[in-house]
Amino acid sequence: MNQYSKEAFINLLEDKLTRQRRKYLEDATDKDLYYVISSIVKDELIPKWLDTQERYQQNETKQVFYLSMEFLIGRLLETNLLNCGLLDTCKEALLELGRNPEEVFKNEHDAGLGNGGLGRLAACFLDSIASLSYAGHGSGIRYRYGLFEQRIIHGNQIELPDYWLKEEYPWETRKADEAVEVQFGGKVHLHKKQDGKFEASYEQTDKVMAVPYDVPVSGYQNNVVNTLRLWSAEISPETSDFLSGPNSQYYHHLDHTHSVEQISGFLYPDDSSFEGKELRLKQQYFLVSSTIQGIIKKFKTDYNLPLSSMAEKIVIQINDTHPSLAVPELMRLLMDEEEFEWDEAWEVTTNVIAYTNHTTLSEALEKWPVSMIQNLLPRIYMIIDEINERFCQGIWFDHEELREKIPELAIIADDQVHMARLAIVGSFSVNGVARIHTEILKKKEMKDFYTLFPSRFNNKTNGITHRRWLLQVNPCLSRAITDVIGPQWIKQPNKLISLLRYSNDKPFLEKIDRVKQKNKQALANLIHEKTGFTVDEESIFDVQIKRLHEYKRQLLNIFHVIYLYNELKDNPSLDLTPRTFIFAAKAAPSYHLAKEVIKLIHHVASIVNHDKSINDKLKVIFLENYNVSLAEKIIPAADISEQISTASKEASGTGNMKMMMNGAITLGTLDGANIEIKDLVGEDNIFIFGLNAEEVLNYYQNGNYVAKDIYHTDDRVKRILDQLNHGEFGAEEIEFKDIFYNILYHNDPYFVLKDFDPYIESHELVERAYRDKQTWQKMSVTNIAYSGKFSSDRTIREYASEIWKLN
Ligand SMILES: *Cc1c(COP(=O)(O)O)cnc(C)c1O
Repeated sequence: MNQYSKEAFINLLEDKLTRQRRKYLEDATDKDLYYVISSIVKDELIPKWLDTQERYQQNETKQVFYLSMEFLIGRLLETNLLNCGLLDTCKEALLELGRNPEEVFKNEHDAGLGNGGLGRLAACFLDSIASLSYAGHGSGIRYRYGLFEQRIIHGNQIELPDYWLKEEYPWETRKADEAVEVQFGGKVHLHKKQDGKFEASYEQTDKVMAVPYDVPVSGYQNNVVNTLRLWSAEISPETSDFLSGPNSQYYHHLDHTHSVEQISGFLYPDDSSFEGKELRLKQQYFLVSSTIQGIIKKFKTDYNLPLSSMAEKIVIQINDTHPSLAVPELMRLLMDEEEFEWDEAWEVTTNVIAYTNHTTLSEALEKWPVSMIQNLLPRIYMIIDEINERFCQGIWFDHEELREKIPELAIIADDQVHMARLAIVGSFSVNGVARIHTEILKKKEMKDFYTLFPSRFNNKTNGITHRRWLLQVNPCLSRAITDVIGPQWIKQPNKLISLLRYSNDKPFLEKIDRVKQKNKQALANLIHEKTGFTVDEESIFDVQIKRLHEYKRQLLNIFHVIYLYNELKDNPSLDLTPRTFIFAAKAAPSYHLAKEVIKLIHHVASIVNHDKSINDKLKVIFLENYNVSLAEKIIPAADISEQISTASKEASGTGNMKMMMNGAITLGTLDGANIEIKDLVGEDNIFIFGLNAEEVLNYYQNGNYVAKDIYHTDDRVKRILDQLNHGEFGAEEIEFKDIFYNILYHNDPYFVLKDFDPYIESHELVERAYRDKQTWQKMSVTNIAYSGKFSSDRTIREYASEIWKLN
């Protein structure tokens, strides 16, 4: 596998430097080295890529297409080196040349084509699909601007454009010959043909060219290279005739070009919330139409089967409802382009498409106005309307018991198209992403659909690729693990369970501790470099890193920090284990309260971190611009993993899994996959607190929670809220009134006050546990040992066998 010696690698590097960068080694910058090493890796990958695709074609292999509006892949060089078996050679070669590998890898701009968990999940899935040698590909949009870059100025979040393609992106290949045309707007006519069938014709549509850019997805040392296909919107050649026309048309042309290119212009920065903008709808249809056209073309050339057998060879997995127009689009292509009858097309469609639900938050539910879809996608609207008619009639005649529920089940209701309903009706599988989440779907959120289609519903608890999130980001821990249990865990992460045998082994525990210490030191250096603050490397590194959301309750975390600070001010000699609270989070640009919380964290940090009287027992750190590369630096150094969402709100979470795998102990609510973590490690190896999902849902239903009661009875809570209200943490008096009002006058919708006391109590247990080094280390090792279940390899095996039916 690893065909280069260190010397050979260096020679190759020099050769490529001169030919591709016109530089000698001495003059090469880290960026030059980055590009040249990428090129070496590409030379390795391309033959494997061609072979893999040819093999799929020759064997007519069943293939999965994972459709997602987001792929948060981060950097690729290290992953690809690892997968080609070249990572160690490359690192050694660079060190020999007096270069720091990390400084070289840093030159790759993160591909930030996603908001958070959902996009990162898609990236982990691609990694596992390739590493398990499954035939599966990603399909997404090549946004010219990824998720905004976050800067903080005086505690305020500023969003800067992320023009990640400014310099060449070495991993992509433009495939102009596989471009397809996507049509918007115009008019549709249905003609009755002589044989009585209907034929659709389209007039005056706006035509957009969808050009694919392919990125290789390499498997771990198995010669498999699959494809992540990212579509870019370009002006259609037909419209380009305007270029030679008179001036007015030239300017019209420029204008038109601009509006076309906008379709793949930027990623909408909203996480778990619905933005009903027409451009977003255009993006969704653009992704779906170009992908499915590409699939059908390929199916016709590569497979010796009629399209009616498509479901035998093709699965389309849609990541949330964002690509749910796949249902009417596949219907449209089969009927209007391939002359299928409705029933035949429906049979194919509903056996090809599978849907993953990611949330039950009502603000995330996609509902598009009927008029918008009618205007932008008239033919698609006709098809949705027909799907809806047939579905509602089916209920009326076959499910009398649900007749009065039709308004809640109908795909089109109150002038809106309900995308989740469309996705459920048009697919053969509906899955949630953690056990509790799937149960909530079946018993509550999608109860009536579950009655209609019980066999469609299934759970696939999320996972993360242990190759990136352990092997790659924490090489010292990986080595320590391999030293005691051997390297089998790399291919079979469940083997990590053998670590349990060493959970009382003092030398091993001490080694694990030294690794954590080293990682904390590295993070402390980064913190100093980025913020100027010095943190105590011996303190508990308490980490909450994720998108900023009310339901994720960063507010509860910072309330606890304020509480501790108040305690220390009252009693400076308080015996407190030093803590460093580390936050990183982007807020959606229009999410006012989320931005207020970021500001609060910063203001608390500037007071706490500068207060000499508390003897450095407390530090609050906010690292800006949270993205995959930053996560990779924080996670190996975490002692405590804060997973404190309001129970029932976090569908799964994956940050919880990444930190568990790196030996952090979870401090969390019984929500999402935290529950499954607890079931594995046992109550002694996790800190669980607060309301459970049932209690939360009951409070919502009965309306019997009164936040003000807690304000009036718990002095600690009253003090903190009054401090906010009186501007003790703000430059001006009014600073944090919005948070104050939201909690007391909107009745604390996320139960921050209700869970405050148990949260404080849990933190006291954390502190006590940390003082007993050996018990802590044992907890840490127990968490690593059980984390194998959360490898996305396990998740993907379940998708492959239970949904996709791959071999
Ligand atoms: C893993 C990850 C997430 C998801 O984190 P949660 O804690 O599950 O919300 C978001 N953003 C990035 C960059 C990640 O790596």
